[in-house]
Amino acid sequence: MESKVYVNGQLHDRADAKISVFDHGLLYGDGVFEGIRSYEGKVFRLEAHVRRLYDSALGIRLAIPMTPEDMAKAIVGTLEANHLKDCYIRVVVTRGEGTLGLDPNRCANPNVIIITDKISLYPPELYENGLDIITAATMRNHPNAVNPRLKSLNYLNNILAKIEAIDAGTLEAVMLNHLGYVAECTGDNLFIVRDACLFTPPTAAGILEGITRNEILDIARGRGIQVREENLTRQDLYVADECFLTGTAAEVVPVVRIDKRPIGTGKPGPITKQLAEEFHRRTRA
Ligand code: PMP
Repeated sequence: MESKVYVNGQLHDRADAKISVFDHGLLYGDGVFEGIRSYEGKVFRLEAHVRRLYDSALGIRLAIPMTPEDMAKAIVGTLEANHLKDCYIRVVVTRGEGTLGLDPNRCANPNVIIITDKISLYPPELYENGLDIITAATMRNHPNAVNPRLKSLNYLNNILAKIEAIDAGTLEAVMLNHLGYVAECTGDNLFIVRDACLFTPPTAAGILEGITRNEILDIARGRGIQVREENLTRQDLYVADECFLTGTAAEVVPVVRIDKRPIGTGKPGPITKQLAEEFHRRTRA
């Protein structure tokens, strides 16, 4: 059966789900999005994702033409219409069709799109053996330019770093912020463990406040693991006992090498495994 895509309140076959080439989402990356996941037919942390979507929209002064409650219903409805249980859900809200000029006021109607798809993950052996990553030369967007807390359709900053990762023969790259501190990876947040304490950059470092990140912080606190949201340097990464990444699609992925340097024992660490297992339980609960 062909998948159905939600566009402005209607479900279309994938091939018929279309918007204008004059949409400012396409012309200028003017819009916001969310990446959400369902497990066994249930959307994980739907409210948090919808809230972040509306916060991102507020950040770019885009009025989403429906209430958050109706958005949540539309997401669940699209999922059900596609008869998918474990899937990835992409919600996109663009500024809408306008003119070739920048003026967002020329765009009368934002477009709301909901796509559901099979989840595509890192290969399973990476969860066992860990990921090899590099530090990108491309720095994360300055928070006073386009704040990385906004999940906007402008992902070129991340794509440039992703290209560096691929060119280096790796799958991910750590991005540093304008001060030289660790920000995040191109599509995931980063954590390290040192002396049994969990560290991750604060949101003020210029990162997306990941929903998986917040879940991991909650799990760690609940288990009595000491947690510190602190600025980290590359040196902090190199001397860490453990390192892992978090994201909706990736979940919790161990990192075993950064810039060709082994992290800790060079194998996924025990605290990483413990947190990943508990996260797995929560998603399937
Ligand atoms: N950072 C960036 C830049 C991201 O795009 C994402 C989402 N893929 C994340 C972190 C992780 O956020 P979440 O856990 O909410 O998916």
